[in-house]
Amino acid sequence: MSDTITKERIFTSGVYAKRELAIIRGKGVTLWDDQGKTYIDCVSAHGAANLGHSHPAVVEAITQQAKILISCPEMYHNDIRAALLEKLIRLAPSNIKRAFLCNSGTEAVEAAIKFARFSTKRTEIISFMRGFHGRTLGSLSATWNKKYRAPFEPLVPEFKHVPYNNLEKLEAAISEETAAIILEVVQGEGGVHPGGSDFLLGAQRLCHEKGTLLIVDEVQTGFGRTGKMFAFQHHELQPDMICLAKSIAGGVPMGAVLIGDRIGEISPGIHGSTFGGNPLSCAAALAVLETFEKEKLCERAAQLGESLFSKVRAIKSPLIRDVRGMGLMVGIELKQKVSPYLNQLLSRGVLALPAGLTVIRLMPPLVITTEEIYQIVDAVEEVLSV
Ligand SMILES: *Cc1c(COP(=O)(O)O)cnc(C)c1O
Repeated sequence: MSDTITKERIFTSGVYAKRELAIIRGKGVTLWDDQGKTYIDCVSAHGAANLGHSHPAVVEAITQQAKILISCPEMYHNDIRAALLEKLIRLAPSNIKRAFLCNSGTEAVEAAIKFARFSTKRTEIISFMRGFHGRTLGSLSATWNKKYRAPFEPLVPEFKHVPYNNLEKLEAAISEETAAIILEVVQGEGGVHPGGSDFLLGAQRLCHEKGTLLIVDEVQTGFGRTGKMFAFQHHELQPDMICLAKSIAGGVPMGAVLIGDRIGEISPGIHGSTFGGNPLSCAAALAVLETFEKEKLCERAAQLGESLFSKVRAIKSPLIRDVRGMGLMVGIELKQKVSPYLNQLLSRGVLALPAGLTVIRLMPPLVITTEEIYQIVDAVEEVLSV
């Protein structure tokens, strides 16, 4: 066993189920372990590496910014932050007017929940079965998985879970007491389940009827993953708040909440973050947005995602129950647990994720090539042939 693995076994907290693997270098779609073996990455750091690893534009931006200014709390204005805020808002639907910057997905969700309660003066939040929104106590209250929640109960009161893709059940649950509903456009952790247009637009209509805010969690689906910049754009939704993180800054920690015009004034002091909006992360995020334009990454994700999806769909294996996905987010639901198959993929040089117990999730960086897609599909086919 490598020294790295031994040391981490001894000193790390224990909250992660780790693979028997030490990753020490990455470039584009490729990762290297400490033995020099290479892997095609279909994990993309849980979706934080949509641009691929160490993208030159991100490396250059953070190198330059590190020499100028790394820390600058939001008690001051800052040039790089101002540039990023403007760019983010211009990218969003026209109802989005402002943004709050933070450092992770769970923080973006926490902020959105606080802004919703503050703005509506209501307390109830509706989220969905199989949904995932993070692991701090507020966002965990919106997360569905019992395994994540049970050890920490009681969680924040007045959170309700209703079935996803079921407008009737949502209609029965939502009322004039509901501050917000929070949903993923494609449920990621929950097993790669795309939301139907009727359901999503219906949810938005119910929100407007009840004076409820619609929070869309794009932490995993944002930044080109589904073939558009944001997944809600497939359905022409106009969310009141949009939670972002993961790939927003090319792998540098960052989160954001985009805030719409149905949220009123937000008073100074009700929320904040020491690192939020730091110039280093902002510079990385600016480089990410420029790279999306330059390399047409959303179009690329749409095209290559189509190809990955249809090739995986064509695999004939009695193990496969269903194949679902959108863009470069593909879920292969098996009739049994996926962990042995993920290990076999790993030994064939392909790193993939589970989504729940029975779904293999493929989320390669958007810079992947057609050739690499063939390699992934070959490996999956081999592993699933029985
Ligand atoms: C990963 C994820 C989060 C949490 O993000 P962290 O940065 O890990 O806190 C929230 N929502 C969704 C949909 C996610 O996929």
